[in-house]
Amino acid sequence: GPILTSADISPIQYTGLFDTTEEVELTSESVNRDRERVGPDCFELLTVLGKGAYGKVFQVRKVQGAQTGRIFAMKVLKKAKIVCNAKDTAHTRAEREILETVRHPFIVDLLYAFQTGGKLYLILECLSGGELFMQLEKEGIFMEDTACFYLGEITLALGHLHSNGIIYRDLKPENIMLNHQGHIKLTDFGLCKESIHDGSVTHTFCGTIEYMAPEILTRSGHNRAVDWWSLGALMYDMMTGSPPFTAENRKKTIDKILKCKLNLPPYLTIDARDLVKKLLKKNPAQRLGSSKADCADIQKHAFFKHVNWDDLLHKRLEPPYKPQLQSDEDVSQFDTRFTRQTPVDSPDDTSLSHSAELAFAGFTYVAPSVLESLKEGFSFEPRARNVRRHNSSPRTPISPLKFSPAGPFKSSLDGEPDPFSPMSPPTAAAPVPKENGAARGAPQRTSLGQINM
Ligand code: ATP
Ligand code: MG
Repeated sequence: GPILTSADISPIQYTGLFDTTEEVELTSESVNRDRERVGPDCFELLTVLGKGAYGKVFQVRKVQGAQTGRIFAMKVLKKAKIVCNAKDTAHTRAEREILETVRHPFIVDLLYAFQTGGKLYLILECLSGGELFMQLEKEGIFMEDTACFYLGEITLALGHLHSNGIIYRDLKPENIMLNHQGHIKLTDFGLCKESIHDGSVTHTFCGTIEYMAPEILTRSGHNRAVDWWSLGALMYDMMTGSPPFTAENRKKTIDKILKCKLNLPPYLTIDARDLVKKLLKKNPAQRLGSSKADCADIQKHAFFKHVNWDDLLHKRLEPPYKPQLQSDEDVSQFDTRFTRQTPVDSPDDTSLSHSAELAFAGFTYVAPSVLESLKEGFSFEPRARNVRRHNSSPRTPISPLKFSPAGPFKSSLDGEPDPFSPMSPPTAAAPVPKENGAARGAPQRTSLGQINM
């Protein structure tokens, strides 16, 4: 059975769950800031950027009213709401106020919303740097100072949401993006979403599960500490090349997350190893960040000792990678399976499915590449992404065995001083990159399973 029972979780765990919550449904009324009437005719559909469990994301250009010519991302959902625990905030807030407090330098900005044909369209800032893990797949693993920068920005974003009573819940590689400067942006802000794909009861376990906390998987009630677990899983992934618990199928992966002991490769510095271990505590009550102090406890950890948090928050630190972009519309940082161009004079360009036609009726222009993806059958089925980084992935997990008995790596037992960690971090994640970089090959993504548009 699962390793966690309700008895293992302290009563404090549950206090948040039955408190009064505030909810804001995202609508044109709650989101739009000006009096401008915003609808589909204000936008041109340029490209498909990506797909999540709940819907597709398109690149669009505004062609009317304020900000004409600006490029945005547009996400299509059935419904979305923000749920916050009222107890974590000083007073009850108006809907607009809640939406305003969600704004943060490292969280995607929501500009407009409109509803039509039973769907909700969210217009977001376009994050042209793509997913952070596109960068990670290019590099294989990150140096510790690079990981430290990104994890620091993510920690600030999560701390901000938590202080507003919001749990992000869904922290995983595909939801962490880079803006054009290379700073972190979390897609969404703990939105409770409803897919426009009908008949979907719950989406909790549809997508990637590798980064989910044990208490979510066992459905034993959870609080904001789930986000700190996911941060630990991400940290592990960044520094070793794969999430901490992986297996060939979902059931086995869940089993490992619930029961398996954490295995840390010896080349991690003492500080990195200590932080990962404290974030990946299976019992949420023992996890770093689970106290009232929340993110402050994580910020204080030695792994972040060289970070000036005020500089980080104000984007005064130079991001490790700057996306190479030609223009506002540049989609080079996105998967070509989404952004690929259509042969312009393909004979069946006009044979759109009925539902596809309906879905985008009203938009001023629909680009050929978007039409093509619609022709293939307009559906919002969740993609199977849990297989993201298995054997065929360029980011082959590094087997700790490789470093075990022989050579300079011998018997670096977990918890003992690491003979390879230099005295003064931030440092490289020691000797691995070269060798594995070569083995990993081209930075293409593999094994996402069927991309079913
Ligand atoms: P999930 O719940 O599985 O995260 P979702 O349906 O909420 O899925 P998102 O994660 O918001 O969908 O978006 C799906 C993909 O679209 C992302 O992984 C990313 O590649 C792309 N994307 C999302 N938001 C933006 C944006 N603002 N700018 C550019 N691309 C984006
Ligand atoms: Mg996503």
